[in-house]
Amino acid sequence: MTARVRPVTPGPAGEAALAEAAVLLQRGEVVAFPTETVYGLGAHALDPEAVGRIYAAKGRPAWNPLIVHVVDAAAARALARAWPPAAAQLAERYWPGPLTLVLPRQPTVPDSVTAGLDTVALRVPAHPVAAALLRASGLPLAAPSANRSGEVSPTTAAHVARSLGEQIPLILDGGPTSVGIESTVLDLSGPQPVLLRPGMVTRAALEDIVGPLVVAGPAASGEAPRSSPGMLERHYAPRAPLLLVEPGVDATTLAPVRAARARGQPIAALSLGAVLPAETTVTLPADPAGYAKGLYAALHHLDESGAGCILVEAPPAAAGWEAIRDRLRRAAHP
Ligand code: AMP
Ligand code: MG
Repeated sequence: MTARVRPVTPGPAGEAALAEAAVLLQRGEVVAFPTETVYGLGAHALDPEAVGRIYAAKGRPAWNPLIVHVVDAAAARALARAWPPAAAQLAERYWPGPLTLVLPRQPTVPDSVTAGLDTVALRVPAHPVAAALLRASGLPLAAPSANRSGEVSPTTAAHVARSLGEQIPLILDGGPTSVGIESTVLDLSGPQPVLLRPGMVTRAALEDIVGPLVVAGPAASGEAPRSSPGMLERHYAPRAPLLLVEPGVDATTLAPVRAARARGQPIAALSLGAVLPAETTVTLPADPAGYAKGLYAALHHLDESGAGCILVEAPPAAAGWEAIRDRLRRAAHP
């Protein structure tokens, strides 16, 4: 199987592409489609066989649960056993948008979607193609990022085609994604809200509405933090080793750089303006939104340049950069 890539632009050709995708999804097949965060690999969320095709295509471990994408807050609520005031307020403020809420699940949501957990992760995506596909199919769509498990997430249809082109029938092309990194994941299923994954809906923005958040991870004090099974230490990673370079560090002295040089391989760099000792450098905007939007395309590009090592100028430890630092830390984890 080789995926067909069909652009979804306003007009009859786009409508036809959406209609074809909807029929595939209703038949239990998988389809890749753009969301505002990254491209997703979607399947009918309430059909365990369809969901199984997502895990098979991605090589995703069965213990890593999926986010269910729905058309609106009412559709989300229909899949949740409880809908606390915080969910209602956050949905009102941030949906459609890059925020995922974890809530107790209804029994209609299969174990394969939730990896056996009693909770389900729900989101209303803002991308017009994702919204149109949810409407056209009439289905809730389980959709993780449309890449082989462990790789850098796709932000263009071409990234999807390179990673999963032989595994899936259809990729809807809606151009490069606008947010560029995965959604914020907030767990509202327990007594206190827990930030499971930082994203571009920032912790500060969430705390304005729900008060102080517990952060998932070993360091949090107070009640034992709930964990998110998919939050692997190493994730979102390019093939070449990625090194975060803090200010004042001479990167030429770092062991992976010396090793790449000894093998005769070039060095690649991702910069915010600093000059790094590399043959190829991509400079990203020095604001979090612009940086997040360009990050994965830059990593895909640098990885494909055949570099033996990718140097990344460490972004500031300031509030708006939390999600970006999280993804870079995971990509750098050996
Ligand atoms: P992805 O679709 O790859 O962006 O990842 C979705 C992530 O959301 C998973 O890897 C988990 O970390 C998290 N997630 C999904 N469902 C749940 C759930 N029911 N409870 C906790 N975390 C979840
Ligand atoms: Mg992913």
